[in-house]
Amino acid sequence: MNIGTLLIHNAGTADAATGALSVPVFQASTFDQSVSFRDEGAGVEREFDYARSGNPTRKALEHTIAALEGGTNGYAFSSGIAAVSSVLGIFSTGDHIVTAEDMYGGSYRIINTFFKRWGLESTAVDASNLDEIKRAVKPNTKALFLETPSNPLLKITDLHAACAIARDAGIVSIVDNTFMTPYLQRPIEKNGADIVIHSATKFLGGHSDVLAGLAVARTEALGKEIYRVQNGFGAVLGPWDSWLTLRGIKTLKARLTMQQKTAAAIAKRLQENKNVEAVYYPGLEGFTDKTVHDAQAFGAGAVLSFKTKTTEQALRFLGKTRLAAAAVSLGGVETIASYPVRMSHASMPRQERERLGITDTLIRISAGLEDAEDLLIDFEAALG
Ligand SMILES: *Cc1c(COP(=O)(O)O)cnc(C)c1O
Repeated sequence: MNIGTLLIHNAGTADAATGALSVPVFQASTFDQSVSFRDEGAGVEREFDYARSGNPTRKALEHTIAALEGGTNGYAFSSGIAAVSSVLGIFSTGDHIVTAEDMYGGSYRIINTFFKRWGLESTAVDASNLDEIKRAVKPNTKALFLETPSNPLLKITDLHAACAIARDAGIVSIVDNTFMTPYLQRPIEKNGADIVIHSATKFLGGHSDVLAGLAVARTEALGKEIYRVQNGFGAVLGPWDSWLTLRGIKTLKARLTMQQKTAAAIAKRLQENKNVEAVYYPGLEGFTDKTVHDAQAFGAGAVLSFKTKTTEQALRFLGKTRLAAAAVSLGGVETIASYPVRMSHASMPRQERERLGITDTLIRISAGLEDAEDLLIDFEAALG
């Protein structure tokens, strides 16, 4: 089946018992096991016993994301960062990981504070440079953690080549696929990645109303390792939030198709604005590594960034835009303008930020479902 069909039918998880087109919300923490104590039930084991270990609504979501990404097992967590932390929880003190240097600010923070304290070493590299990745791999390296397009400058990593480096080194490749979603990029199925992570808070949920994280493993063996942490740490997604995420997923293609078109229109128009210094969007002709992105993804996505010429122009834009919410997050039906230096990357030291090009003039846009023409008019007015 094509992905558009898988999305609509939540990969076939709808309720077989009743025919309901929507997976029921099983608001239950425990499941009666008495049948296994009866003579006629000897040997019968119910699939579910306790909701931290498994819940039918969550399972439907986990099955859906595994099918969408082409992995064997999926796992749902209470947030994207819970998914990141739980996946990193499969490693041990003394292990080393290589990460992309301009990854999501919260991932950067948890790796450089919490995991560092527990003895998981890390080296951040410019992951658009394959030699840098290769050079960073050490004898105790266990994983390569990528995000492409990166956040917030949309830098591209060649997934196929990077995952091949990981495979040759015998280490696990992990890709945060939040920006692209499985509709636009499938690193396990197409590019040889071992684990895919999502903040489903973003495009998968899609309505700015749920916090959720997902992880998908390429193999049963890796899946089991993630499951041990999921069940052990317990940062699981509740049944209602699982259901909201399943509902969001049904309209992913329709939303993202429109949002991507709008993002492309905004990127083009911003390029022509005299107060704009630079626009970062993989859909723009001449964008660095556009050919790499085009070869590994099915579209440029609905997130772009731009730099104004002065800090004042950036601050004025955020205050004056009437259609874009000046907010963190992305991927919702509402257009959002983020200011990375004060929001997603506030925890990154200033010097480090500036080295990466995350300046006071940088604004990240997540295109929503408003009428594109209204957004263009609004943005032009806000830019002056
Ligand atoms: C938002 C985000 C996360 C973290 O997800 P939460 O749901 O906010 O915990 C991780 N990676 C990327 C790329 C994100 O955009």
